[in-house]
Amino acid sequence: MGSALISSAPVALSSLTTMQVGGVPKNIITCQNTELLYKTVADLWDSDESFQLLAGGSNTVFADDLGDWTIVLVANRGIEVVSEDNESVLVQVQAGHSWDEFVAWAVENDYAGIEAMSGIPGSVGATPVQNVGGYGQEVSQVITQAEFLDQATGELAVKPAEFFEFSYRDSALKHGLVGVIGWVEFRLQKLGGLSVPMASGQITNHVNAPYGSQLPLDQVRQVVLELRSSKGMVVKKEDPDSVSCGSFFTNPVVSHEKSLEFPEEMQRWSMPDEDFVKLSAGWLIESAGIPKGYSLPGSKAAISNKHALALTNRGGATSQEIIELARFIQERVAARWGINLIPEPNLIGF
Ligand SMILES: Cc1cc2nc3c(=O)[nH]c(=O)nc-3n(C[C@H](O)[C@H](O)[C@H](O)COP(=O)(O)OP(=O)(O)OC[C@H]3O[C@@H](n4cnc5c(N)ncnc54)[C@H](O)[C@@H]3O)c2cc1C
Repeated sequence: MGSALISSAPVALSSLTTMQVGGVPKNIITCQNTELLYKTVADLWDSDESFQLLAGGSNTVFADDLGDWTIVLVANRGIEVVSEDNESVLVQVQAGHSWDEFVAWAVENDYAGIEAMSGIPGSVGATPVQNVGGYGQEVSQVITQAEFLDQATGELAVKPAEFFEFSYRDSALKHGLVGVIGWVEFRLQKLGGLSVPMASGQITNHVNAPYGSQLPLDQVRQVVLELRSSKGMVVKKEDPDSVSCGSFFTNPVVSHEKSLEFPEEMQRWSMPDEDFVKLSAGWLIESAGIPKGYSLPGSKAAISNKHALALTNRGGATSQEIIELARFIQERVAARWGINLIPEPNLIGF
């Protein structure tokens, strides 16, 4: 099993998260295989310690004062093809593997189904948590099962996708199901180097193809990386607008009746259940009078210059400054539109 790497050196969580905020925890335990990961977490469940699982740190905002917390770093990596036929391939990916490296691997090997989720930072094991998605694809479309250590039962088992109750940017893991994912299995399709039908007008318009077209996989990846970069949605050292957690709020889903209260020009998306409509949180924010680039007086937290939904750290912001800006936006949007914006990232230690 090997031993866990335990760091008691003062590593601040700001260096392990894309928002670059968060204080120094009591210690950080790095787990490079599933056995260690499960044992470490099970021991911590049996203790009174406050602890948090962390992988890529791209959807987590830590408080500034975390001196009593232990951090368990998910660092098991690897991709394994477990079976294949002429049409598809089943792939098991370790939880700590980089999501975008997995997408790049799939594109290189002509496996379709995740190409439009290129450039999303973070780990494979965190993708089920909020049913990660973008540009018309989400992981629930391709996840078949995952290995899961369940806190409530203490059971380690391979759970089918349905167990996680996926919906838009949501799963049971955000509603009381507590546990650790060790690996995730995906079914990807063999379509001769082409993508699955593209369910994103942004992608198809970009290449002048009809909605629903199947495009070369590497073309989809390049287009998505370009589109995402133009919005600060690819983490890059040289782009201050990418010092964020991506979208800070989820797009609110309202009844069809409620959606009729909003001006026609507001961007909105239909949902699989036709009684519901997804509204653009970015539009709600901007039309509540908060422009891109906005910051509260004297604060180092600001809305991205490229995307109204991303809160960014302009350098040396405290977590408190990020949270104050988020609260200000929520209050303004609630007062203007009667909509309660829900934060997407995990807010830890507040
Ligand atoms: C620039 C940018 C763009 C983004 N764009 C998108 C996007 O387009 N779509 C989208 O959906 N998200 C997006 N995100 C958010 C983020 O990338 C995803 O949520 C990602 O899956 C988080 O992975 P992570 O490993 O960084 O998670 P972390 O921040 O490390 O953890 C997130 C949560 O998952 C839990 N967790 C982590 N690993 C495990 C595990 N093995 N088992 C159980 N729980 C676990 C953690 O405890 C925590 O609660 C973006 C973020 C950034 C910074």
